[in-house]
Amino acid sequence: MAEDSRVLDARYYMPAFSRTMKIVRGAGSRVWDDRGREYIDCVAGIAVCSTGHCHPKVVEAICGQAKELIHCSNLYYIPNQAELAEKLVGITGLSKAFFSNSGAEANDGAMKLARVRTGRKKFAAFAHGFHGRTCGSLAVTHKPAIREPFEPLSTPCTFVDYGDLDGLAAVVDKDTAGVFVEPIQGEAGVIIPPDEFLRGVREICDDAGALMIVDEVQTGMGRTGKWFAFQHSGVTPDIVTIAKGLASGFPIGALVAREGLEFKKSEHGSTFAGGPLACATALATIGVIEEILPDVAWKGERFMKGLAAHNPRGRGLMIGMSVGDRCPEVQQTCAENAVLVNCAADGNLRLIPPLVITDEEIDTAVGVINAALG
Ligand code: PMP
Repeated sequence: MAEDSRVLDARYYMPAFSRTMKIVRGAGSRVWDDRGREYIDCVAGIAVCSTGHCHPKVVEAICGQAKELIHCSNLYYIPNQAELAEKLVGITGLSKAFFSNSGAEANDGAMKLARVRTGRKKFAAFAHGFHGRTCGSLAVTHKPAIREPFEPLSTPCTFVDYGDLDGLAAVVDKDTAGVFVEPIQGEAGVIIPPDEFLRGVREICDDAGALMIVDEVQTGMGRTGKWFAFQHSGVTPDIVTIAKGLASGFPIGALVAREGLEFKKSEHGSTFAGGPLACATALATIGVIEEILPDVAWKGERFMKGLAAHNPRGRGLMIGMSVGDRCPEVQQTCAENAVLVNCAADGNLRLIPPLVITDEEIDTAVGVINAALG
């Protein structure tokens, strides 16, 4: 008999996270563990699945493309890559797209683009912000536990408190290539800034000639009820970065930049990025999100209403609650009662379910979470 995969895991894998259960199957907003237990997955959005697990249209697109062409993208025209770029330009309102394999890599690309087009080297970003774990993106990520072991990082970045526009204005100057900002901080625990915040960041960037780089890796692709969270604010960024929900869990990221901002020959590239299989999956995902996007806002409201006794904050289906030290215990109790939730930083419970979650699933999840919170 094959050895239990946990034994193999302990022997051969380098676990960078503590893991709790073994997930073996998913469909819609549900996942199943190796003992056949079913869960409502309110964590799927962090783990990339906005259209729900194994959405039939997404699976069909993967299978169809896999039979046609699996290739790498740098040397040839790939028809569905151009089609995906057109879609991303359409939904962001920007000008041109460039592909990557992950969110961190999309942010690395944005850093390179900002540096090479402005001729400047410095960045500014926000306390508790998260932009990835590659050596590039880590430089604009603030989370001390993942950053400090690798300091000094080669790209200079100054951090200011999230929401503090005076603090930002004081550090952004003629040497600043760009400002990285999450429109809602995800890993920090679903922190929603004041309405005028992104407008203020835009003005500060304009005054200094720095680029405004909005990281929509967690908030994008319909999560907050619009395609992108920046679209609630009325500003247009210079660069938007996207990953997670872009292809329902298939690895692909992208940066989309405003007119006049693009890489020149040989300035950037990656073998697998924007390959036809990833692009087919992303295009099918966008098709599904187009259908369900109008429902995201009211589904979020239903969730928030159900949890009202615990002061939830959120936008669309991205919801957080300050729970404090009890967070891991609440997470565990919810899992025992067949609902997966997640503890983000600082005792914040995070709910980020698939956008296809049904009313009934929302009500069940709300009941379990309320009971766990007491
Ligand atoms: N930016 C944000 C806002 C994120 O939440 C994450 C992932 N948690 C990343 C970037 C990094 O994405 P990836 O894990 O795909 O590199």
